[in-house]
Amino acid sequence: MSENLQEEPQKEVQNGFHEFKLNKQLLEAVSKVGYQTPTPIQQKAIPLILAGHDVLGIAQTGTGKTAAYLLPLLMKVKYPQGMHPRALILAPTRELAIQIYQELQKLAVYTGIRAACVYGGLGPKIQKQIIANGIDIIIGTPGRILELYFDGTLYLRDIQTMVLDEADRMMDMGFMPQIRQLLEVLPTKKRQNLLFSATFPEKVERLSEEFLEFPMRVEIAPQSTPADTIEQYVYYIPNFQTKLNTLTHLIQFEEFKKVIIFTKNKTQANHIAQTIEKMFGSVRLIHSNKGQNTRIHAIEAFKEGNIRFLVSTDVAARGIDVQDVSHVINFDVPLVYEDYVHRIGRTGRAFKNGIAITFCNEAEKYHLRKIEKIIKMRIPVLSLPAEVQIEETPFEEAQEIAREIDRQKRKENPDYQGAFHEKKKTRKRKNKQKKQRHK
Ligand code: AMP
Repeated sequence: MSENLQEEPQKEVQNGFHEFKLNKQLLEAVSKVGYQTPTPIQQKAIPLILAGHDVLGIAQTGTGKTAAYLLPLLMKVKYPQGMHPRALILAPTRELAIQIYQELQKLAVYTGIRAACVYGGLGPKIQKQIIANGIDIIIGTPGRILELYFDGTLYLRDIQTMVLDEADRMMDMGFMPQIRQLLEVLPTKKRQNLLFSATFPEKVERLSEEFLEFPMRVEIAPQSTPADTIEQYVYYIPNFQTKLNTLTHLIQFEEFKKVIIFTKNKTQANHIAQTIEKMFGSVRLIHSNKGQNTRIHAIEAFKEGNIRFLVSTDVAARGIDVQDVSHVINFDVPLVYEDYVHRIGRTGRAFKNGIAITFCNEAEKYHLRKIEKIIKMRIPVLSLPAEVQIEETPFEEAQEIAREIDRQKRKENPDYQGAFHEKKKTRKRKNKQKKQRHK
């Protein structure tokens, strides 16, 4: 971090982190942020990374995985030195990059280590300036890192440690070509590689084979299992308007202290945010059309507790690290099933309890079953509170739901002709008969 952030360590206090071979500056920072006990991923990964192994970490967000790699990484980087970064951390989204940077700032506070966080969406001028002043660690999204490498701003030949965080998301977002390009330009000699991923599908397994050398694997929760600290529920709700009624009914209660509402697209996100704003006032909205600064400010305001409600599309879901989120509400069932785990991972972070509630209409039940398969549990269904006004499903929405159910049936059974198909066929036949009659 920049020198003016460097502070003198205070009196050392013993805590669970003293069993690791970390230096005084880091132990002191850990006490300062208030971590008492290492989380399971930290327990397992820190000694292995300190010993110099390549590590494959399967751990979800909320398990403390960031500090699990940052602490040994900071131990290795040790102090500010030279001009060029010696460690590179790649993250799939700007929000996650910022979150890693913030955690690093906290943990590096007594070390003087300099870091920069770079991502697209913002002009590179300030980022370039920070890099030009000399840095020890670079954090960023793959595209921007490559850009800065190609234009000569970033010198990457001194990189000795590389971290891929949320590798599964990185694959989903199509970053593989950029990662490959980066791997080609990085020095391979004596480089330590760390790969963290919430899930471990085949594509991540293939990447880990390419990227890691004799890795030690540490796995925390079984694959895709949401942290135990999260209570999950589902409401079956027939349509959008009734979902909105349910939402506004629920969030009027005080226990809904800090709520993130996820929804599938920008239009719905806007609609939901407007409704909340009318009824409750404090709300912020983040999605990809919002400028980067607006997104950062929205997350900050929510973090600091100035607003109770944050409405978000999936784009931003991964990077949000906010303490004490009381509830995550999935306004609709995520169609990228792993997103469910990421979305609800916003609550129940590190030892805290959270509640995740999913709204599910008739067409979404199909996807809910698939998610239940992945998380290996049945999500308990709650009955709609009596006060919630159940609305008629408008014709267009009903059609859309029926069409979607048709699609699902066809997907499961290619021979299935479907209600719509039937109707179309009958209509065609009738038209033909009509024409013939007219001849
Ligand atoms: P992560 O899984 O890295 O996103 O971390 C989730 C949250 O847990 C972050 O807000 C961290 O600040 C916090 N955290 C990390 N390690 C610990 C720990 N040992 N004790 C308490 N909180 C922690």
